[in-house]
Amino acid sequence: IVQLQEAIGAVKMPESLSIESLIDQVRDRLECSSQLFDFDPPKLPSAGDLLQDALDQLSRIATAAEESPATAQVPIELLDENRQLKRRVADLLQVARLDALTGLANRGYLLQQLSERTALHRVRGLSIGLAVVDIDHFKKINDTYGHQAGDQALRVVAETIRKSLRDDDLVGRYGGEEFVAILEDANPEGLAIVGERIRSNIAKAEVVFEGKKIPVTASIGLVEGQIFGTEAEFGEQLFAVADAAMYRAKKGGRNQFIVDTLIAPNDGPQVQERSRSVAVPAMA
Ligand code: GH3
Ligand code: MG
Ligand code: MG
Repeated sequence: IVQLQEAIGAVKMPESLSIESLIDQVRDRLECSSQLFDFDPPKLPSAGDLLQDALDQLSRIATAAEESPATAQVPIELLDENRQLKRRVADLLQVARLDALTGLANRGYLLQQLSERTALHRVRGLSIGLAVVDIDHFKKINDTYGHQAGDQALRVVAETIRKSLRDDDLVGRYGGEEFVAILEDANPEGLAIVGERIRSNIAKAEVVFEGKKIPVTASIGLVEGQIFGTEAEFGEQLFAVADAAMYRAKKGGRNQFIVDTLIAPNDGPQVQERSRSVAVPAMA
């Protein structure tokens, strides 16, 4: 992968090509070819999963090589190269998981973590919480102050949300100006406290661009989900409920949060609103 990355970097492309998009293209062509020749190849995992898997394996091999008792006979240059490789793998893993603008987890890593944490919470019999945070009238910030100011607002909001959560929680940038947080040990009362903390911290946050202070608020949908179905099904529903709650918060006047619960009794998943923010300060 490291060599592939360097090779891609060395070839002058009209646009920069990431390893992930290269794998995705191979995957698409494979599908076309298999249709042409009328055969059914096994389903390939997504480029992100494939890359993650390969990097994990590489990292394990590098660790094993270093820890093996035969290490004493390995020439020092090789060990050194190995250590460098490990560092680059770690860097690559980091990059593959992070959103470049904000440094938060990216969408792929966030979804992978949601699935893993759901499996863990199911075993422990705990609920899982999800928060969708969407900046209010973000388009207006871009239009009024310019895109660079918009980017600055995204960075400040990202850091503000991260600081509003516990270390065990995970926040990522889901898309443009939308952030998603996975919250551990969720219950409606706790989620209301988190919702209010995120809301007020964002409203208080200092977004300053070229000496001008830009007012920023966000609308937040939070959900406590009692785990059911497959990880993928549950994750999709949990996200849909939090997203819908966030849109109700927008409709309610923005700069506010709503907490829902999602449970699955025998007659199918049910959503219930549990709380919403009380005082809604006037929009700037
Ligand atoms: P609402 O309160 O209803 O959420 O309104 P909104 O303007 O925030 O929502 P809308 O979805 O209409 O606009 C989102 C804007 O976010 C549009 C797009 O130009 C901007 N955007 C998305 N990604 C980025 C980015 O990376 N940087 C900047 N500066 N702007 C971005
Ligand atoms: Mg928005
Ligand atoms: Mg949006």
